[in-house]
Order: sequence, then structure tokens, then C-alpha cells
Amino acid sequence: MSMPLPDSITSAGNAEVKRLRSLHERKYRRQTGLFLAEGTRICTEAVTLGWRLHRLAFLDGRGGDRMVRPLLEALARDGGRALPMTESLLSRISGKDNPQIVLGAFEQRWQAKDAIMPDAESCWIALDRVRDPGNLGTIMRTADATGARGVILIGDCTDPYSVEAVRASMGAVFNVELAQMSQNDFLALASGWPGQVVGTALPASRDYRTADYGGPLMLVMGNEQAGLTPELMKACTQLVRMPMMGRSDSLNLAVATGLTLYEVLRQTHPPKGC
Ligand code: SAM
Repeated sequence: MSMPLPDSITSAGNAEVKRLRSLHERKYRRQTGLFLAEGTRICTEAVTLGWRLHRLAFLDGRGGDRMVRPLLEALARDGGRALPMTESLLSRISGKDNPQIVLGAFEQRWQAKDAIMPDAESCWIALDRVRDPGNLGTIMRTADATGARGVILIGDCTDPYSVEAVRASMGAVFNVELAQMSQNDFLALASGWPGQVVGTALPASRDYRTADYGGPLMLVMGNEQAGLTPELMKACTQLVRMPMMGRSDSLNLAVATGLTLYEVLRQTHPPKGC
């Protein structure tokens, strides 16, 4: 059954267009609790995982598409609003020349800090003052790929729900839990953590391939410029290092996180035949 759709929006001055565009700014994401996700695949995955869709902006005339129709049905269930519009308005909202044919505004989800449960199989990644949204998105994507439970943002971090971080996560933002807390709250969490708390740091002497990643694992990664604070290093049960053979003094944060997560996976889920 096809549902009636509102008239196409054609003006950049339309209030809905302005509201969606404002979700590029952290201030408005905080005020509304919403964020933008782009593309039919990613929006469909989010809806399938039960994320609440508030607005669906889509290219006028494509509401009947096989991939768009179920999104409109989910939107109607969630009490959201369908917004057919011109390509130039989609482009304006996304900030891209070649926008996807759908843009969804979803409700953010944050895990309460006292709801972080250390179960034996789980791996959490704690990021100390991560600043680069591309790094954070890539880390969410790798966390999802390696089966990690979630990401804890310590201190003043970039927003995982920014357009850039969501884009870099390629949809993984919908499949990892997210929490934020102060360094002190994290230190309290780490002090009662029943498994290993492994920090990666350049001053460490232990090779990351020889560490004990016994679960529940907390993997702690440092800020792009300053690395881990001394307090966080002290809270770790082990500090590990990735060998640096050339002249560069460190790896990119997302690369270092990816290497460590895949080492954890290699040790906890060895390939068959090894
Ligand atoms: N100048 C910073 C420092 O002294 O730590 C470099 C930070 S590095 C770009 C960002 C984070 O990635 C580090 O804090 C650490 O968690 C991880 N990292 C990068 N390269 C690493 C390496 N070779 N060994 C261990 N951790 C590394």
C-alpha cells in the first residue's frame, strides 16, 4: 500500500531543511539529540537495528523505490516526518556535490556510565581526548569489524555523531555502544575492571604481540598529539608498544587501534589450523 507523501520541498529557506542542515553543528546535535546518516544502505541497517528515525529527507520521486519504501514505513511507525526534496537541497544538507538519495535524522544513543558491564567476552575501547572525527569513525568501523562491544570517550573528545565521524564509520556507529565520561570516572571504572586494562603508549617496552588480552578487555588509546595522560597509563594493567622500524615516531591513532584489535582477535579467535 503506498502512503500519501507531502509536497516536494524546493526552498532552502524551509524550516525542516534548515534544521537538518544545523545538525552539522555540535551545538544543535546536543540540543536536539539527533544526528544525520546518509544513504539507503546505512539508514536501512539503522532502522533494522531499531534506531529511531525522526526525519527522512529523500529525492523527490524516489519514495516508491524498493530501498526507500521500507524507510518511509519505519518513519511512519516512529512518528517521523517524510521530506521529499530537490537534489540541490539534499546537497545543501549533506554538504556534498553528489548527495545520496536519502538522508536520515536519527536519535542519538549514549550508554550510561554505570551501565558498562564487563562480561568475559567483551572488549571496550577507551579513547583519551580523541580529536579527529575521521579517526573516531574509523575506530568505530574497526571496533565493529572485530566484534568489540563499544567505545568510551574520555574527557574532551570529538563527537561520534558528527557528519564526518558517522561517514567515516560507514554505518558502524549504529552497531557499537558509545559512552562518554571524565578521566576521573574512567579511572574509577578501570580500578574495578575484572579483566586486563591494556594501554598503548610509546614509552612502553612490551611488544603488543606478547601482551595478555584476557577478557573482559579494556583497550586504552591516547590522544593524537599528547598520547595517554600519566594517570591513565598508571591505571593500565599492561602498557604495550608497536615496533617502529623507520624514522616516524608513532602510528596514526586509528591504525594503532586497528592493529591492536586485530592482534586481540588473532589471540582470542585464532585462525583454524593454527
Ligand atoms: N606524540 C604522541 C605520543 O607521544 O604518544 C603520539 C600519539 S599517537 C599519534 C596516538 C596514539 O596511538 C598513542 O597515544 C597510542 O595510544 C597509539 N600509538 C601510536 N603509535 C603507537 C606505537 N608505536 N606504540 C604504541 N601505541 C601507539
